[in-house]
Amino acid sequence: MKIVADLHTHTITSVHAYATALEMISEAERLGLYAFAITDHGQSMHGTPHPYYFMNLHAIPRVMNKVRVLKGIEANITDRNGNLDADESILKNLDFCIASLHMPTYHDEVSVDACTEAYLNIAENPYVNMIAHSGSPYFKYDYETVIKRFAQCGKLVEINNASIKHKPDFVPNCKEIAKLCMKHGCRVAVDTDAHFITQLGRADQALSMLEEIGFPEELVVNASVENLNKYLTEMNIPLK
Ligand SMILES: [Zn+2]
Ligand SMILES: [Zn+2]
Repeated sequence: MKIVADLHTHTITSVHAYATALEMISEAERLGLYAFAITDHGQSMHGTPHPYYFMNLHAIPRVMNKVRVLKGIEANITDRNGNLDADESILKNLDFCIASLHMPTYHDEVSVDACTEAYLNIAENPYVNMIAHSGSPYFKYDYETVIKRFAQCGKLVEINNASIKHKPDFVPNCKEIAKLCMKHGCRVAVDTDAHFITQLGRADQALSMLEEIGFPEELVVNASVENLNKYLTEMNIPLK
């Protein structure tokens, strides 16, 4: 298995990432990626930009250097009600919205019950496409309940390469999550969460884990151009 698109990446705008949008686009072209999404952090993460940054992303062409560039955001889930730090006026104009739990930007109880509730509320948010790096041991949730609901709502669960590569305590959770996605037919995206060009599109560890458990390619929306175009069409995300 391989990925033809990387749906979770950061640029220098996230402040703790180090490449410009143009450098990421050039690297995506060099790697032969079909598409990638620029998903800088929502505004409650330290150092992130004014909402105008997200509102003006249409300044970047949708197809550049043969690469389809999806304009996105990694919004922060701020509480168990599933509130995000990006409002509708921003989200409605973006192609791809990731919702994530991060320690500095979640201001509610941390428990399996609270995180389950947060993700179940996210499942009902029409703007959210995917939850990211949910294998975190800090934000454990009822995997079966949430994944079942995500499958019903057509949301994606991310298999995050950075978690598997750099965080050994995430790995058993990521594997359990992937197995439950397989069981319930929940689609996933395999992403790098790249914070520099050298990480973009390189998801070997996540792909090996999926191969090890016999994960079906048809459930990986970015495993082929055909899968990705089918997903983007279904979500009304323009291809060109
Ligand atoms: Zn994140
Ligand atoms: Zn990220």
